[in-house]
Amino acid sequence: MNAPEILIIGSGVTGASIAYHLSVKGLKKILVIDSGEKPGEGSTSKATGGFRAQFGSEINIKLSLLSRDKLLNFEKEHGLSSGYDPKGYLFIASSEDEFENLKKANSLQHLCGLTEAEILDPAKIVEINPYVNQESIYGGSFCHSDGFIKPMNILRAYISSAEKLGVKFMWNKKVTEIIRGNGKITEVRTSDGEVIRADLFINSCGAWAGELATLAGLKLHVIPRKRQVAFVNDRNLLPEDLPMTVWIKDGFHFRIRDNYPLLLLPEDSADDSSTEVEEKWLMKVESIASERIMTDKKMIADREKSWSGLYEMSPDEHAVLGLIDGTDNFYVASGSSGHGVMHSPAIGLLMSEIITGSKTTIEISSLNPSRFKNKKLIESVKFF
Ligand SMILES: Cc1cc2nc3c(=O)[nH]c(=O)nc-3n(C[C@H](O)[C@H](O)[C@H](O)COP(=O)(O)OP(=O)(O)OC[C@H]3O[C@@H](n4cnc5c(N)ncnc54)[C@H](O)[C@@H]3O)c2cc1C
Repeated sequence: MNAPEILIIGSGVTGASIAYHLSVKGLKKILVIDSGEKPGEGSTSKATGGFRAQFGSEINIKLSLLSRDKLLNFEKEHGLSSGYDPKGYLFIASSEDEFENLKKANSLQHLCGLTEAEILDPAKIVEINPYVNQESIYGGSFCHSDGFIKPMNILRAYISSAEKLGVKFMWNKKVTEIIRGNGKITEVRTSDGEVIRADLFINSCGAWAGELATLAGLKLHVIPRKRQVAFVNDRNLLPEDLPMTVWIKDGFHFRIRDNYPLLLLPEDSADDSSTEVEEKWLMKVESIASERIMTDKKMIADREKSWSGLYEMSPDEHAVLGLIDGTDNFYVASGSSGHGVMHSPAIGLLMSEIITGSKTTIEISSLNPSRFKNKKLIESVKFF
């Protein structure tokens, strides 16, 4: 390929989905580069594979519904399964205030078309997940069309479909320098000394998107935040068909993946740059699990097989999509704040519409990067 017209930096699930959707629109000469040796060295492979439309803001609910439409058609479109498996998401409130928030969010979900999301009393919660400790359950919500996806299947499918349409992917290419003049990016330099020129650049570097923008002297409100997963190496502890189950008081949640329990607790770490799984965190998660999940044996995390990765956080925990302030040819798609795999089908499509100047399938101006400068952060009903 001579100089590409579009250079996408970062080939996780976001960059790969954008590349695919741009090529479907007939755009040629798209190059995607990534610092990793192979697909999945960023956060995409670290995701546990939850999919939900039960959110507390209109825009996130709509992104999920658009993604879900695309996931339902995924295998037909790509010849590969996305692993979409609607086993549901169950949210548990432990107090009246938490339950009120779930009810507020549920009303919004219904207004947005997610009419199958239901509010539950404690008896119904235990019917859906008989393993939760019934003590201190106040109420909950459940949506049967939420559930699970397979992050690496989705990433591989987008790369393979984009390649068939002529997109080129290159690995081991870390952008180390960005040249900017008169509001335009002109070229980037990579760790192996290559200079790549293009007409349009897209920053899909996930948790590293803010760092990439600083190479061009630009401010982007996306920072990394460490998230850890405790892997319980016991395939007979709990049945495979349980929903994702989330206690909203502290965000502790668990799912069964390939028969093994995964335990998560979104607790901030003192060091967001390390990917070490912290012993103190593991002990806390084990203790919470033993109080809330009723199993014959105590859940003990396998220290070797537990892992951590980075969320790409924005200040209002919503995606950041569009032209970066201060340029007219440098776009960003990041900031999903832990929902980037589930929203990647929608975000790829929407970014392809923004870039080709088409009307976007859903209204997304609220996700523009300028909202932080203009102090127009997205509001949501907070429950998870
Ligand atoms: C523990 C954990 C659990 C999660 N669970 C879920 C879940 O259940 N559901 C869900 O939807 N999401 C989940 N997420 C979030 C999800 O993983 C991310 O939102 C998603 O992977 C973001 O995709 P991305 O393509 O934007 O970023 P990434 O997959 O991180 O891709 C960015 C790419 O950019 C590359 N890169 C970085 N800097 C440079 C550079 N300078 N030059 C070139 N390339 C560069 C990296 O190598 C990387 O491949 C989870 C995340 C974690 C950590």
